[in-house]
Parts: sequence; structure tokens; C-alpha cells
Amino acid sequence: MKPLSKRDAGGRDTGALMVARETYRTISLYAPNRAPAVIDLSDNTNLWGVPPAALRAITDAASGTITRYPALYAADVKQAIADYVGLPPEMVVTGCGSDDVLDSAIRAFGEPGDVVAYPDPSFAMIPIFAQMNGLACAPIPLTAQNDADVERYIETNATVSYLCSPNNPTGASFSRDAIERVAAGVDGIVIVDEAYAEFAGWNCLDLLARFPRVIITRTLSKAFGLAGLRIGYALGDPVLVAEIEKSRGPYKVNAIAQHAAVAALTEDRAWVDGHVRDAIASRDQLRGSLMAIGLAPLPSDSNFVLVPVKNAQSLDQQLRARGIAVRPFVALPNIGDALRISVGPWDLLEQCVAALRECAA
Ligand code: PMP
Repeated sequence: MKPLSKRDAGGRDTGALMVARETYRTISLYAPNRAPAVIDLSDNTNLWGVPPAALRAITDAASGTITRYPALYAADVKQAIADYVGLPPEMVVTGCGSDDVLDSAIRAFGEPGDVVAYPDPSFAMIPIFAQMNGLACAPIPLTAQNDADVERYIETNATVSYLCSPNNPTGASFSRDAIERVAAGVDGIVIVDEAYAEFAGWNCLDLLARFPRVIITRTLSKAFGLAGLRIGYALGDPVLVAEIEKSRGPYKVNAIAQHAAVAALTEDRAWVDGHVRDAIASRDQLRGSLMAIGLAPLPSDSNFVLVPVKNAQSLDQQLRARGIAVRPFVALPNIGDALRISVGPWDLLEQCVAALRECAA
């Protein structure tokens, strides 16, 4: 049988005879360092634990939940999300994490060759989803205030304009004015990624009634503490939601995740709200402590803090050697090297600050 690819003398794939699509050859696997660490502050999940009713729903799942397929489009989760955000269920589509919802939305609205505009820096998966779906990437540098550059979005007039507020990895929200002007000024679909909205104290839900081409994506991975179950959703006009649902396909939210999501959304809201307040308090305390050791963390509306440093990779390794994982970023536009630190209970953050004080000294 003919080999799928040629290998050189060292066994490395030379790319010759590859069967993968041309576009795929320039895509690398999304693979941040997920090696276990004693204190893991690298992925912005909920470090206070699992919401209690969700945990009960998982433990009590009947065997039928496992042997049978889940609901096709997670209708009960849609209803619970609809009640949570105060919109009808026809305006909700779920997915296997908001990753899946974003990928499905880009595929639903962009023909191969169309353009996806997104802030730079922002969520690293967006250019990957764009390329995987055959779309061209238009990174748009942030303004000096780390806001969305409205004029550049309008000039680009992409088929899909992606905004992320609060933005990852900067942590800050975009201004409402910038988001509204992009929504009003482009002809295509505008996605506002609100993965961290619960920590910001404001959101863009009201834009849905005014701008019929706006889609908001959200997740249960952050404030709701269910990252391991992979549940995300998008909100928008029923016509757009139906297209994303086609693109996402059936059975994307597994049955255990469906039970846990409904329990969390209907019974665990006080738990979630309480830990959002804890996260905000920890975030402010973390920023203060970082400033006290001579660093200059960026303002944050999220459950993480971005702190510019001289050499992110070396600091990351030194922290890892002390059992602490953060997310290093190298040469971010406008910002330079930086570490993104997730917030959690203060005893964890205190150890991170102490280690940083030692390493940065
Ligand atoms: N959007 C943003 C801005 C994120 O930071 C993340 C995860 N880090 C996601 C979307 C995807 O989250 P999930 O797939 O867990 O819902």
C-alpha cells in the first residue's frame, strides 16, 4: 500500500504526497501545555469546584442516560438557558463547548474564501476555525486602549466579524460604543464572544433586539464550573440560530452534560453568583499584589489577569518548576510578553504571587 506521506531520513514527515487539504498544512494543533501542576492557573476554569446540583445530576444519572443517545439538539438545556438569559428557546443553540458553537457559526455563515475579522490578540481558536472552514483571516490589532478598532472592522467588512468581550487574553471588556458601532457598521454577521460575561457585570444581550445579525456566544465552562462537560451556546435571531444548528449537527451535547447543565442552570445559580463574587474579589486582590511586587497587570473584567513580563517563557518554566501553571504569551501586539493568571481561592493565588516575586526578582 502507498504510504500517506514521505518521511526523511530522520523519520520526519516531509509533507510530500500528503492527502490533507492544502489549508490544513499550515494549521497546527491547538496544544497549550496542559501538563498537570499542583496549582493550575492556566485555563480560566472555576477553581472553586463543581456546582452541587450539577454534581448530583451526574452521580444520579440513570443507566438509560448512558446506553441511549442524548436529545438531538439538547432541547431541555436550551429551555434552561432561555430562562437564564430571558430569551425564547428559539433564540438558543447549544454545542460541545462554545468552541463548537463558534466553529459551527463560522461554517454556517462563511463560504470558503470569505473573510473572518477578529481582534489581535484574542481567542486563539478563531483563526484556526476560520482556516479549517476555508475562510481567510483578517486579524485587527486592538487600539492603544485595548479596545476593538471600529474603523478597521468597518473597512474590512468581513462576512463574519468576531469580537470578544471581555477579551481573552487581555481580560478587559471592549467598550459598548465600539461593539455597537461594529454591529451597526458591517454588513455581515457579528459574533460577540461573552465566555467571561458573568465576571464583567454587564453584557450585550440587549443588542440582539436591535441588531438582527448579532450572535452572542457563551459557555458553561467558566462561571458555571462545567468545563469538563463541554457545554456552550449561542444566542441570536431564530433564523441565524437554525443555521448554526444545521452546521453543528445532532447529539453534540452528551446526555450526562445535558442533565448537569439543566441542574446547574436551574438549581445552582446562587452558587455560581457567589463564586463570581469570589472571583471578582480575588482578581482585584491579585492585581493589587502584583502591583505591590512591581508588575503592571492590565485591568480585567474576567476571571483572569494578564500581566506583562520581560520573558514569559522563562518565567513560565520557573513557575512550573515550583508546581504552578499559568499561561505564557510571547510578543503580544501592543503588550509584549505576558503571563495570564486565572483567579481562584486566595491561598492558591498567594502562592503564585510569592513564586513570581522570587522568580522576577
Ligand atoms: N471563547 C473564549 C474567549 C475562551 O477563552 C474560550 C476558552 N478558553 C472559549 C471561547 C471556549 O470555551 P468552551 O469551548 O470551553 O466553551
